Amino acid sequence: MPNNGSLMRKVHFPPSRLVFSAIVALSGGLVASCGTGSGANPEQVTVYTGRHYGIEAVFDEFTEDTGIEVRFTTGSDPELRERLVAEGANTPADVVITADAANIELAASAGLLAALDSDTLRGAIPEELRSEKNEWFALSRRLRVIMHSTERVSEPPRSYADLGGSAWSKRLCLRPSTHPYTQSLVASLILNQGAEKAESIVEGWVANEPLYINSDTDILKAISAGDCDVAITNTYYLARLLDEDPATPVAISWPEQPTTGAHLNVSTGAVLASAPNPGGARRLLEWLATKGQKTFSDANFEYPADPSVAPADLIVGFGEHTADLAAVRQLGRLNQDAVALLSRVGHE
Ligand code: FE
Repeated sequence: MPNNGSLMRKVHFPPSRLVFSAIVALSGGLVASCGTGSGANPEQVTVYTGRHYGIEAVFDEFTEDTGIEVRFTTGSDPELRERLVAEGANTPADVVITADAANIELAASAGLLAALDSDTLRGAIPEELRSEKNEWFALSRRLRVIMHSTERVSEPPRSYADLGGSAWSKRLCLRPSTHPYTQSLVASLILNQGAEKAESIVEGWVANEPLYINSDTDILKAISAGDCDVAITNTYYLARLLDEDPATPVAISWPEQPTTGAHLNVSTGAVLASAPNPGGARRLLEWLATKGQKTFSDANFEYPADPSVAPADLIVGFGEHTADLAAVRQLGRLNQDAVALLSRVGHE
């Protein structure tokens, strides 16, 4: 993981405090139940998180600020949702954090989330970026955009459809269809362009015989290495590479400007319906959306969910763009349609 500590607020722990408030990463497998309600430790919250990058420092800062310890375990969004379903009322988890909007909506549909009536969260997070029933709230914005080689591409594609043009035959790298990022992008195409047009766009990509790579970082490295010339990835992966090496020969082409804009996804947080410590869970989410919002976003070079919080300088340098806020709440509803479309057209 790249070190972007310079962008974070400095937190100083006296040695004894450091030991006391150390974050406990839970090991794999099911963890013992804390029971519901009465047995809960009010000084501790347990988080299942599908968003991994830089979270230790963020949780440390929360602990320093509130005295509440954070225990966390990581996994993919679908894995953590399956685990929560399996654990049911006995889950030790208070909060779930996802890397994708569709996956939190699927968790809501599965009855895993508690509605949270919070003026603080409604005040910080725009309406388009939280569930209508207050079951989840965006914590940061992630944009999935067109990337191109600055060495071999002088006229980059300007839309997701352009990537299906014959100019990009055997020059395109894509994330496989099993990944939530791909599914949510296609869900947004279905919403914005209609099912038929969305299908022809994805058919165009497939016709270009893309190289499928299941890592956005590796996709960008493949562009640097000359294995592909254009691709679709989230912006923060490029930010991390540029932070390590400003000469990385890859740049963003902002898609669908000025119409619907770049596909916007979000990382989200929610309180679980079976949270042993719902009060602590609420405090963590409210803190992540306010006092901790900049640390949380900057830790992974994401755009803050709260538009009044300034993004990191490095990503301000990516330039002005339109982002597709209107689709975010629809990505879960359209997830199965997207999965079916990807399968029909033979997208790996
Ligand atoms: Fe990611």
